Amino acid sequence: MKVFVNPGHAPGGEPDPGAVNGELGLRECDLARAIGERAAEFLEMAGCEVRLLQSHNLAGESPGYQNVTECANSWGADLFVSIHCNASRLHNARGFETFCYDADGEGGKAAFFIQQEIFKGVRPFDPGFWDRGVKVNRSFAVLRCTVMPAVLVETGFIDNPQDARLLVEHREEFAAAIARGVTDWGQVKA
Ligand SMILES: [Zn+2]
Repeated sequence: MKVFVNPGHAPGGEPDPGAVNGELGLRECDLARAIGERAAEFLEMAGCEVRLLQSHNLAGESPGYQNVTECANSWGADLFVSIHCNASRLHNARGFETFCYDADGEGGKAAFFIQQEIFKGVRPFDPGFWDRGVKVNRSFAVLRCTVMPAVLVETGFIDNPQDARLLVEHREEFAAAIARGVTDWGQVKA
């Protein structure tokens, strides 16, 4: 199985670091990258072929930067996994959610497995870490422009102190959970 891993936002934060937690000195681009790289290692250990690309494609692909969805499409990935951290206006939201283009399709199935594995692998460390569920989004470029099933995982809220702590202290568990969700899906995919 060929899995394309896309840590969100621009590598090194230039020009877009994604969401930030100024107090704790955390940037979404760095956390997503670290979780994505580790998830890629787990997937390779499980026998998957993996490509990882982080590029600047905040509101769709940006000219002058590597085109993430084109790269995944031409490689012929079986599944596309984008990894992000969430943020909320009042800094008080918590939990993990996974977006897909079509809840009833293969992407929706993969999103469900990833949610389930994060629930099993990370939530035990903090019962306040809510399962926000599988959600449909048809405007995210990575879901809209990919030709294979695709998911976008919002691992946790970087601007919430408890979620940020989980993201820092349990990165390994996030990465393992995402990889397990992918391989769970690989076993039942059509
Ligand atoms: Zn993001």
